[in-house]
Amino acid sequence: MAEFDMEANNFIEQIINEDLASGKVSAIQTRFPPEPNGYLHIGHAKSMFVNFGTALKYGGKCNLFFDDTNPSKEKTEFVDAIRADIRWLGYEWARECYASDFFDTIYEYALRLIREGKAFVCDLSAEEIKNTRGTLTEPGKESPYRNRTIEENLKLFTEMKEGKYKDGEKCLRAKIDMASPNVNMRDPVIYRILHATHHRTGDKWCIYPMYDYAHPICDYLQGVTHSLCTLEFEDHRPLYDWVGIQLGFSPKPRQIEFARLNITNTVMSKRYLKKLVEEGFVHGWDDPRMPTLTGLRSRGIPAAAVRDFCSRIGIAKANSECEYSYFEACVREYLNAHAQRAMAVLSPVKLTITDYEGEEELDFDINQTDENAGTRKIRFTRNLYIESTDFSLDPPPKYFRLKKGGYVRLKNAYIIKCEDVVTDKDGNVTEILCTHVPESRSGNDTSGIKVKGVIHWVNADDAVDVTLKQYESLLKDAEYAGQDFGERMNPESEKIISAKAEPYIASVEEGTPFQLMRTGYYKKCTENGKTCLSEIVSLKDSFNKK
Ligand code: ATP
Ligand code: MG
Repeated sequence: MAEFDMEANNFIEQIINEDLASGKVSAIQTRFPPEPNGYLHIGHAKSMFVNFGTALKYGGKCNLFFDDTNPSKEKTEFVDAIRADIRWLGYEWARECYASDFFDTIYEYALRLIREGKAFVCDLSAEEIKNTRGTLTEPGKESPYRNRTIEENLKLFTEMKEGKYKDGEKCLRAKIDMASPNVNMRDPVIYRILHATHHRTGDKWCIYPMYDYAHPICDYLQGVTHSLCTLEFEDHRPLYDWVGIQLGFSPKPRQIEFARLNITNTVMSKRYLKKLVEEGFVHGWDDPRMPTLTGLRSRGIPAAAVRDFCSRIGIAKANSECEYSYFEACVREYLNAHAQRAMAVLSPVKLTITDYEGEEELDFDINQTDENAGTRKIRFTRNLYIESTDFSLDPPPKYFRLKKGGYVRLKNAYIIKCEDVVTDKDGNVTEILCTHVPESRSGNDTSGIKVKGVIHWVNADDAVDVTLKQYESLLKDAEYAGQDFGERMNPESEKIISAKAEPYIASVEEGTPFQLMRTGYYKKCTENGKTCLSEIVSLKDSFNKK
């Protein structure tokens, strides 16, 4: 018994429930259909969430379908990258197939359409076809080649396949209706001549089916029940259905369109992302600032946070734009719950606790939001570094960080009091001299002193020098659309800072995410043998960022 009484969470599930209830389908099959002409981006994550997620919900299957009908732009490099990115996001496909797997059948079906008088070979050029297609208000003009005999069409199409004609010299068009209100139905081209080597079929073919014709056939041959795609294909649905009806597909796959994901301050089209890479605006497809999945992964964004984001933005029929900050909030929320804490100081100033002798190992909360996370030991001595921005010689009112004569708590350590400072000849503070309250140790504070400020620190003698990388969005503003990338690029989207960090950070596995206290979420990596902390996402109320 199919579980069609499941609650529908969106309009696609509503349709599926109806199709299950009416007995139109009994098991759900979807497909994720990337074209292997670039790397997947976060928009594709939404498409995967919809396609894989829907199949999962109904105990159905989702195939990975490579739409490789455009040989001049497709490469095996992209196929491999797409596979890796899907797995990274946490999805597994039932079957991997390619439009090119079906080229023989697609060709046979074209012969069938010709034999039934539903397709003809046309000698008009692409330009002429475009010019005779009509407009939204005017019908198109029938091709003078529309009434060729079936025999002539069969002969010419076979010759097209055999390589007798040059690119663009002829094409195969469906014979539908030049007066249709839908321009896509005005005798659309279904096969074109293209003498190009295909990354899988080599030189076997010099004619290639057009997407609108091939896609319904590939869906049907894979057993797809619901072909979920983005809104720009809505006007193509009549053609999708026409192909299925003419070829007698039963059950006929059903195309359902949903809104694309658009995010502010970033580019979400493979074509433009490619431009960024090729013109050197970024270091590569996996640059941490790129909205590609490989970029998000090198940024250190957890796949679970991306899935969570996709589930929260929902699946709707109407296009809309999502704020980049909403994506960041999802990432932050995930990391807040899952990332361990550590301390690093970005603009170090020396702090000496003059009345503290020796050293101790203090308990440091690994993640205070997770009661099972526990603690680890950190070394504490009299010689520390704190952020120079956590001390003020001339504090404004309500300044809760360190000032002369003021108290502050050192995170997971003691309450200290600033007694004096050492300055250089220009008046810059070079050392802060403090005393500590011995009975105020965190976890065992009997001092009775209440302080408002808690600041982070590192122990000076074993702190490690690390390179910190901070990022801002790649594009200055979403409103520059249409302008040159050079003008839209944010020149300061990558910032490099040197910092002092706990030695612990150097000892953990590559890729470990941290919340650097009061700074942001960072991923540990090693570059040229040096420990590096690369920003995943900033903290909302960070002191270090304006
Ligand atoms: P691009 O325009 O970036 O090249 P595309 O649509 O050409 O993207 P495809 O490889 O054809 O990329 O896309 C595979 C699937 O992912 C398609 O079904 C497409 O509709 C979907 N998809 C692409 N971009 C988005 C997006 N921003 N939001 C949701 N789905 C998307
Ligand atoms: Mg596309």
